[in-house]
Amino acid sequence: MRARDIRYLWHPYTEITSFEKSAFPIIQRAKGCSLYDMDGREFLDGTSSWWCVNLGHSHPRLLRALRRQAERLQHVLLGGASHTAAIGLAQRLARIAPGGLGHAMFASDGSCAVEAAIKIALQYWLNLGQRGRTHLIALADGYHGDSLGAVGAGFIRQFHGPFAGAIRQAFTAASPHCNQCPHHCVPQTCDVPCFESMRKLVRRHSGKCAAVIVEPLCQAAAGMRIYPTEYLRRLRKLCDEHRLLLICDEIAVGFGRTGAMFACDHADIVPDIMTLGKGLTGGMLPMSATLVSDAIYDTFRRDGDRLRTFFHGHTFCGNPLASAVANAAIDAYQDQKVIQNLKVPMARLHEGMQRVAEALDNAPLRTLGMIAAIEIPAPSGGADRASQMAQRARSLGLLVRPLGNSIYLWPPLTASPRTLNRMTAIYLEAALQTRPRTKPPGSTRTIPPVTK
Ligand code: PMP
Repeated sequence: MRARDIRYLWHPYTEITSFEKSAFPIIQRAKGCSLYDMDGREFLDGTSSWWCVNLGHSHPRLLRALRRQAERLQHVLLGGASHTAAIGLAQRLARIAPGGLGHAMFASDGSCAVEAAIKIALQYWLNLGQRGRTHLIALADGYHGDSLGAVGAGFIRQFHGPFAGAIRQAFTAASPHCNQCPHHCVPQTCDVPCFESMRKLVRRHSGKCAAVIVEPLCQAAAGMRIYPTEYLRRLRKLCDEHRLLLICDEIAVGFGRTGAMFACDHADIVPDIMTLGKGLTGGMLPMSATLVSDAIYDTFRRDGDRLRTFFHGHTFCGNPLASAVANAAIDAYQDQKVIQNLKVPMARLHEGMQRVAEALDNAPLRTLGMIAAIEIPAPSGGADRASQMAQRARSLGLLVRPLGNSIYLWPPLTASPRTLNRMTAIYLEAALQTRPRTKPPGSTRTIPPVTK
């Protein structure tokens, strides 16, 4: 099976030569927080299978919804027709989203939701008769997906360098990088001086921009950089003052990850456009959504003879199977009180990762809700150590990936305190087993850092 994989499969974000030499697991089944390979070996899912399996694997309620829907209707177009699962989902989303985001456009992956968000923002201004608003403003080191529009909004050179010539890069404001704060702020007294970079950029460029796009509260792919809610509040105000749309990309952080249903809820702001994905179906089926305010939606109506139709859509937009699972997932988030029950797991995750951080020479730990990341400084091993730790953790039964020089845990929201203890204990063991023999070891790069 391994040989056939190497012969035929192309793995995303995976360096081919080192992958071929590695003892990669071939997963056969999964339940809760555990994945099982072909030999029956258990691996704890420390990334929720790329940040989406929020409710754990094989959730019975989601499986039931999938089976029931599969018996009835597997697919139908949404262009000019409809079906009850998509209607129910759009209504549920309008109910739980920050106020006024009343219409949903569906797609299958996060990047597609971001593409739709960007195109909606661009066409919105034309609908209002304003030309020339063709650019975006974003945060440095933001990530919004790998399709070309999304790459323009969230350009990470290490990932997207080869495509630089084919995209329009957003104007980028300084990343609110609290761990390496250039203003030397501490959380208790921080007055977000880093926001000034965004303010300057908006003042200079707003006339030619359609929107500002950000990952609210956590720049995930940049290494789980967590930033203050005050940044978001000021951004909402700034966008209003300069008549710019605000797009909040909640694809990674939506559906409870930060300890609230949406990260925007912490700041009590309502974006004009919000993108969702990953946890929307509890990670069971590919689905994403772009939510827009009713005010934006209404500008797409015909104006006399002038058509303002949004000529955009994907074949599997609002697929009934995915919609049915998403409906069941939203019901499960609410009925199981997943978010209300996060207090103990959040504390346990923090405590466990604190011990790992101590074993890494007191490396800085950041946590937000059920996200915990530790940035390993160069003298403690940096990106090489992060990569080695992930490999060691896997051999000890925890499936994780590093992000540059950061290691992180992003467990299912339903992980029990015992499971979280097991995960953090494995990370601790991996930290101890990879202790550098001589200092500083950061200079000898042996394994290419695995990212995302
Ligand atoms: N936006 C954010 C904030 C993300 O974290 C991701 C994926 N990690 C995406 C967009 C793209 O989603 P997808 O991989 O489903 O295309």
